[in-house]
Amino acid sequence: MIDFHTHLDLYTNPVEIAAETNRVNIFTLAVTTSPRAWQATSRYFSHLRNIQVALGLHPEIVSEKAVELSIILDNISSTRFIGEIGLDGSPKHRSTYALQIKIFEEILRNCSKIGGRILSIHSRSAASDVVSLISKYSNAGKPVLHWYSGSQTDLNKAIDCDCWFSVGPSMIKSKSGRALVAKMPRNRILPESDGPFATFRNSPIMPWDAISINYELSDIWGTSMLETEQILRSNLRIILE
Ligand code: MN
Repeated sequence: MIDFHTHLDLYTNPVEIAAETNRVNIFTLAVTTSPRAWQATSRYFSHLRNIQVALGLHPEIVSEKAVELSIILDNISSTRFIGEIGLDGSPKHRSTYALQIKIFEEILRNCSKIGGRILSIHSRSAASDVVSLISKYSNAGKPVLHWYSGSQTDLNKAIDCDCWFSVGPSMIKSKSGRALVAKMPRNRILPESDGPFATFRNSPIMPWDAISINYELSDIWGTSMLETEQILRSNLRIILE
């Protein structure tokens, strides 16, 4: 139904999967990991009306892609969707953390000059810094924290600065993930797959599998599957309006 964070261009057969996604989902946000990937992906998917391609620079690859920063900055005004951007403070990416902050902040600063952007944001092991930067550039638009896995304290701060959350089946499987989801305002949650990296039933997850969170959300919220679906559809309408 809805997938608010997928790497459609990174599947082995992206053209076929995008066509099927466009047919099955009412809305899909295809994030990209670099501005050049955004350029190519936008061309490939431009005819698919239910798919939007977001302009991104993934924190895990900033050292290779920092040279493409100017492409992002030049295109922020012409695209409404920005992502995947953010910070990754896990040990593997700690060495590029200063550069990650510089790039993330530069993107947010430019978004805040224009406003009205929708941003899909990575915050693994960096929730506290991500949230402080989001609150510093609160005019950027609507930040959507994807696969949030930080502390409850930082979650409360994120909620206070009007963050949205995209939530996937992998996240909701763990006890800690479910506890976080239960604390998120239900009018600011959207489904995501994070495919093809995340898995679903032992294969790379597909964009149409994101909606399987409907079952767990109904359980957490005490709502019927139909009510849950209506909440998610209404959330989509509100974030896009
Ligand atoms: Mn991702």
